[in-house]
Amino acid sequence: MNIQNQAVVSIHYTLTDENGEVLDSSSGDDPLTYLHGTGAIIPGLESELDGKESGDKLNVAVEPQEAYGEFDESLVQQVPREIFNEIPDLAPGLRLRTTEPDGPGKIITVVAIEDEAVTINANHPLAGMTLHFAVEVEDVREATDQEIEHGHVHD
Ligand code: ZN
Repeated sequence: MNIQNQAVVSIHYTLTDENGEVLDSSSGDDPLTYLHGTGAIIPGLESELDGKESGDKLNVAVEPQEAYGEFDESLVQQVPREIFNEIPDLAPGLRLRTTEPDGPGKIITVVAIEDEAVTINANHPLAGMTLHFAVEVEDVREATDQEIEHGHVHD
């Protein structure tokens, strides 16, 4: 079947940046399996996969606004260092996930550490980047009623 809303899609992918550096890949791992049309993957990739079928290969360049958004300078902020008192391995480059009452939280990256303050960046690590995906569609199947109801794929 062709990829359409409420199809369960399995893809292998390699994600590279503008310089061809590999940022992420499903190679050597299970394919990424998701429910199409639910925003489970970035919009620019989901729309390109529409109508494709098992065995199709595609190369997609996704602009920031269709991926993880533009880099927002206002999300780079200084906060009091004491907020991080319970994190022993605090260092520039460390990524932390905030805890939210109803959701997965946000990824923040530690930029710099001073005596009293820590500079953090709350942009998504891939914000502002054009993402290059090499994708192969491994499998497309109909979702079960329960998967559609839940809005996600079951094993
Ligand atoms: Zn479920």
